[in-house]
Amino acid sequence: MEDLYKHQALRKKLVEQLKKSGIKDFKVLQAIEKIPRHFFFNSAFLQFAYDDVAFQIGEGQTISQPYTVARQTELLEVRKGDKILEIGTGSGYQSAILSTLGAEVYSIERNKKLHERAKAMLKQLHCHVQCFYGDGYKGLPEFAPFDRIIVTAAAPYVPEPLLEQLKLRGILVIPVDSKGSAQTMKKIRKTGENEYDTKDYGNFSFVPLLGETN
Ligand code: SAM
Repeated sequence: MEDLYKHQALRKKLVEQLKKSGIKDFKVLQAIEKIPRHFFFNSAFLQFAYDDVAFQIGEGQTISQPYTVARQTELLEVRKGDKILEIGTGSGYQSAILSTLGAEVYSIERNKKLHERAKAMLKQLHCHVQCFYGDGYKGLPEFAPFDRIIVTAAAPYVPEPLLEQLKLRGILVIPVDSKGSAQTMKKIRKTGENEYDTKDYGNFSFVPLLGETN
């Protein structure tokens, strides 16, 4: 059987690059070093798997840039056993990183093909992620509340159901459309029943979080 965890040297190199770009969380870097990003790539594009770039995964969608995955995960302050909701399963790579950090991961994807593919990939990697086919704007009320919520597509605004499904002192990391093609990465901490502390963490570029009409 093929060694899924090959290309260790390329992952180490990527981790060194991420450190230089400012990623400090040791556990996040360890997870990036462990998870085989190439596994989530179409075999025709394997040579790009450890470049620090976003890449097409079909259906007009992308696997996020490793720096973005690392930064969002770092901002999320993942603790072992955290119940995490991810919006935008895409390739499944971000879910695998969260699962490796010891989180209980729930992930929603609105594209059926990507949902099926990611579910199968994650199973093959023995990552215990619960994958759902549906609309991330609504979250997963039946499994709420969550310690952490991460949105991996550009939201035009912060969806209210996601705020409602966050535990007290929980964290939501979400790129929110500000102007043009750039989004502001927001880290929102729930400090009270209807109180939130929001901080901005720079500009990123994501594919849009799609709604019912687009
Ligand atoms: N986290 C992914 C990964 O590790 O590969 C990258 C996600 S990709 C940048 C954004 C994903 O969000 C796409 O797969 C897209 O189909 C999905 N998406 C867009 N709108 C959505 C919605 N309303 N609900 C759930 N998923 C959505």
